[in-house]
Amino acid sequence: MKLQNKVAVVTGAASGTGKAIAELFAREGAKVMVSDINIDGAKEVVSGIEKNGGIAAAVYANVANEADVSAVIDFAVEKFGTLDILVNNAGIMDEFMPVNEVTDEIWERVLAVNLTGPMRAIRKAMPIFLEKSGGVIINIASIGGLGGSRAGAAYTASKHALIGLTRNVGFQFAGLGIRCNAIAPGAIRTSIESTIKNPSKFGYERATVGMNLNPRIAEPEEIAAIALFLASDDSSFINASVITADSGWTAY
Ligand code: NAD
Repeated sequence: MKLQNKVAVVTGAASGTGKAIAELFAREGAKVMVSDINIDGAKEVVSGIEKNGGIAAAVYANVANEADVSAVIDFAVEKFGTLDILVNNAGIMDEFMPVNEVTDEIWERVLAVNLTGPMRAIRKAMPIFLEKSGGVIINIASIGGLGGSRAGAAYTASKHALIGLTRNVGFQFAGLGIRCNAIAPGAIRTSIESTIKNPSKFGYERATVGMNLNPRIAEPEEIAAIALFLASDDSSFINASVITADSGWTAY
């Protein structure tokens, strides 16, 4: 097993990519803190893990709320004794709002969840990692963080900034046993689309012009496999990097 006795926190782990990561990490021997705003979903993920003989616990956390983020890390340490792996996975879309339509409310909410939440989780985890001279951070970005128009202005800005944060943290703590990497997935088969309620007509059209170039949609388990690689010592020399996982979509 690749993560035997490691303790992992996964945010947004009640569904989709986060759920697949939590399940795979538990199968590989990690004790997993399954956190989400959907606590019922998180509890279901935990009972599935436990049925398969894994170790996990569910905890409510809205990553936009600093106290919740802090409490998740504290809870992991209290329950499982330490923290080794932090996966900042929770993320939300932005209704494809172009800059001339984006409201302050959407801008602030998307940045709070997709960027400020991960920064606060890393900030809170860092003293634990520094004390043990070890720790792995994995940020789930997006090809929207590499290109200019895979979503609206807020999502695009948030994921670009998350990649910047990844590279900053990765480099600055490289000599201290800590690695920080990001995954930039293309389209994944999850329920994130269902959170889009009232998309901008103009923004949606501009963001989807290249959809016909997408070779295929990933299963969440395919992204989880990359997270496992980044979490384990198999990737010991990979730091401050972004792994693009899009079946070649952005290569065109
Ligand atoms: P999903 O909607 O299936 O899962 C997201 C989870 O995050 C849900 O369980 C939701 O309850 C939780 N969540 C939402 N807001 C939260 C908050 N404030 N605090 C805590 N939890 C919260 O979506 P997914 O596709 O699995 O998304 C996971 C990550 O992958 C996101 O960061 C997303 O931007 C990224 N991503 C997704 C795709 C895609 O095509 N689905 C592509 C690229 C990147």
